[in-house]
Amino acid sequence: MSDSAATVGAARRIYLDHGATSYPKPPEVIDAVVNAMREHGANPGRGAYRMALSATRLVFEARRSLAELMGAPDARDVFFLSGCTEGCNLMLKGLLSAGDRVVVSSMEHNAVSRPLHALGDAGVEVVVVDADRAGLVNVEAMESAVRAAPTRAVICQHASNVTGAVQPIADLADIAHENGALLLVDGAQGLGHLDVDVSTLDVDAYACSGHKGLLGPQGVGILYLRPGLDARELLQGGTGGGASEEPAQPMGRPERYEAGTPNTPGIAGAGVAARLLLAHGSEWREEEQRLFRRLKEGLLEIEGVTVFGPATDEECVPICSMVSDKLEPDRIAFMLDRTAGVAVRSGLHCAPWAHRTLGTLETGALRFGVGHGNTDADIDVALGALAEILR
Ligand code: PLP
Repeated sequence: MSDSAATVGAARRIYLDHGATSYPKPPEVIDAVVNAMREHGANPGRGAYRMALSATRLVFEARRSLAELMGAPDARDVFFLSGCTEGCNLMLKGLLSAGDRVVVSSMEHNAVSRPLHALGDAGVEVVVVDADRAGLVNVEAMESAVRAAPTRAVICQHASNVTGAVQPIADLADIAHENGALLLVDGAQGLGHLDVDVSTLDVDAYACSGHKGLLGPQGVGILYLRPGLDARELLQGGTGGGASEEPAQPMGRPERYEAGTPNTPGIAGAGVAARLLLAHGSEWREEEQRLFRRLKEGLLEIEGVTVFGPATDEECVPICSMVSDKLEPDRIAFMLDRTAGVAVRSGLHCAPWAHRTLGTLETGALRFGVGHGNTDADIDVALGALAEILR
């Protein structure tokens, strides 16, 4: 039996909610978290004694690993935050001001749409451009929205947490830059599932989660900001090191964006996860894509099921959502768990804009997220149980 189909008490557990967070975490990641707490328990960057220095080194190494994984030439442009939500808030609130106009896709998660709503109240004009029914952003529509008026930023996710659609980020970067705008990307579902190279993609900011495709622990997010891009920091506070008598927040990177004691154990886990992905990422991605195709093809064979997402041969991260003409998504999710121990997510997945785009705002949908550790048996049990429930 696989780890993900482990037996918990008497119940079999098949975890297919990797879109929310990855589970189980690789043992190396768990060891790194525990080891950081056991051996490097001091605050990094805040002392000259050996344990503080070893904690500092640990964060430094993790930052280097993340920068390497994300293709950031200088690790100082990579910041550790609490999650992708904080990264999205920082890039949006740090770069946008009253009077700015932004163009954004209709597939965005609340981590983007809610800060934009708050910025809209503060005088930022937000233009939302509809994606198609697979959740794919329409490049031409985005371009004409950008050309319609001076635009400060184009904002888009790398991949949808509802349909798995991979968005045309490199095209959007060209459109943004040809029109004097920034490209700000929510990469929560990108890192780990896709090759993310911030230099090749030519993004100005890329926010991502440490705990999803990266396979690190919850409570860690990563933000890349292009060198020289002057985003206001969200928080001011202690940064350790240097001139702590100065009243103003230091402007150096990464300190400017990392006020307060960092989540050292979480960062240690994220760093080791990045090294694992550098070593095994392409092989693991191939396997999760194979399992995902098996799942999607199986879903399409069940009568009365509609699957949302790009066609099976198009590029997507291993996430898709479905509805049935027989039962509500909440009921199906409940029954999958109770009858077969299959964990999937129903509802709006924190992305009401996306569900409005798909026409599922009223009912929500049932979301499957495949990831590292899943097996053929997981997929087959889930498909069998679903077919039974919908018979
Ligand atoms: N953006 C997208 C597309 C997501 O799927 C999520 C999480 O589900 C987030 C942002 C928020 O990420 P985090 O949980 O790391 O704050």
